[in-house]
Amino acid sequence: MNKSTCRICGRELTNETSVDLAIGPVCRAKKLKEAEQADRNQRPLYSVEFIEDYDICLIHETYDPDEPRISLTNSIEFVINDIVKQHGVCTNRYTFIQHSTGRRNPTFFCKDEFYHEYDLVIVDEARIRWRYLWHNENEQEQAEFSNDLLVERVAKIKLDLQLDQIKNQK
Ligand SMILES: [Zn+2]
Repeated sequence: MNKSTCRICGRELTNETSVDLAIGPVCRAKKLKEAEQADRNQRPLYSVEFIEDYDICLIHETYDPDEPRISLTNSIEFVINDIVKQHGVCTNRYTFIQHSTGRRNPTFFCKDEFYHEYDLVIVDEARIRWRYLWHNENEQEQAEFSNDLLVERVAKIKLDLQLDQIKNQK
């Protein structure tokens, strides 16, 4: 009978649960570890900062050259989902700002070793959009970076979006 051997390594199974699942405890543990690792790799390293007075949630990507992972941009929906679950924030009320970082190509005009990109994340029915807030590599950028600047620019974009919406309703 097939069922009494492990489907991974072919060893004979004695434990009832193992027979039912057709996999031994050693292979089962290994599979579980692989699944956990795969899940972990689907998330970037990041930290969360709240600007409470403005209901803003800043998501800072942590760059680790030794352990490359999926980028914050490519996993932003999952990350926001995790933050909503962990911190109990409401996506209708909170504004999410993505701070992407990584080692930059040193041929650009900017002297920093890393690029820093702050973008407003707009979560619309199953669609994610980004709006520019501040990038250190942008030659046109005149303003110094600060959280106050982010708050100011978020407010301006939100106002523009509201005006667009009103225009589209007419
Ligand atoms: Zn096995």
